[in-house]
Amino acid sequence: MRVLPKPCSVAIRSFLYQGFRGLTANPYNGCGHRCVYCYATFEWFPNFYDELHVKHNFPQVLARQLIENRVGQPVFLSSATDPYQPHEQSFKITRKTVELLQRHGIPYYIFTKSAGVVRDLELHASYNGSMVVWSLTTINEKVKRLIEPYTSPARSVLKVMREFAEAGVPVGANIDPVIPGLTDLDGWVEEVVDAVAESGGSFVSVGALRLRDDIWARMNNLLQSRGMSDIADMLKKLYKIDGSLGYREPPHAYEEQLIQRVARRARRAGLTFGIPLPTMNKPRNTLIQTQLSSYLEESFMSSEAII
Ligand code: SF4
Repeated sequence: MRVLPKPCSVAIRSFLYQGFRGLTANPYNGCGHRCVYCYATFEWFPNFYDELHVKHNFPQVLARQLIENRVGQPVFLSSATDPYQPHEQSFKITRKTVELLQRHGIPYYIFTKSAGVVRDLELHASYNGSMVVWSLTTINEKVKRLIEPYTSPARSVLKVMREFAEAGVPVGANIDPVIPGLTDLDGWVEEVVDAVAESGGSFVSVGALRLRDDIWARMNNLLQSRGMSDIADMLKKLYKIDGSLGYREPPHAYEEQLIQRVARRARRAGLTFGIPLPTMNKPRNTLIQTQLSSYLEESFMSSEAII
């Protein structure tokens, strides 16, 4: 992966997703996790998987924004990249961002697929307004390697989740995207819910695969090359793929059934269904929004600089 410096002029941006307006901070563009279904790829730049744009001046820009403007809402880290992807271990821009948010008393929520967030366990645990959500699509390692080749193994994620929970940080998982025919098999999403509960998580959410032309092209290539053309054919039928897709939501009935499955299992496991927003006031896990999913990528949102 090529690493390129890309100075930024704005650190916090607003996003609008299904009527919810929030704030997001993306210290990097590009991501080395190479998830086949990644929503953030195409609209950012075509080399999303192969180039990491490192915003070295991000902390300085953020510091200025925070001094010049009142930021009252929780900040989402990050909507269009993984803030704890491997290169964060050396660049530490996410860490510096978190330190600044903490200094200004701003709650934040981390979305990641990485166990590397454990490096900052003490930092997050020392602060009342932190929350970590792991995007955990499956605990089947073979399938996980296939669709998210460079992400942390599920067992490492679950181990770190437990460490955060024991340290008092609200944690949970977003099972998203569920890929029909690949990660929605009998009992699979239920296994993820149970694993989250056993690892000290307090909430779980779910969402089904969204498709766009570039996502389908990658997905189809992968499935064909691995001799899974039957799954590709099934997806074609389910999403009514015939020529150009544009952007394609999952069939409503399919997603509804998935939500019911996960909500039911969450209730049984004692988890809240839906992702809360962190607040600076106890109790920390007040559910104020449901279904804020990891597909909250800026490519599916309208976003604008707030400052
Ligand atoms: S889905 Fe998230 S973790 Fe995966 S490549 Fe895209 S930005 Fe990275």
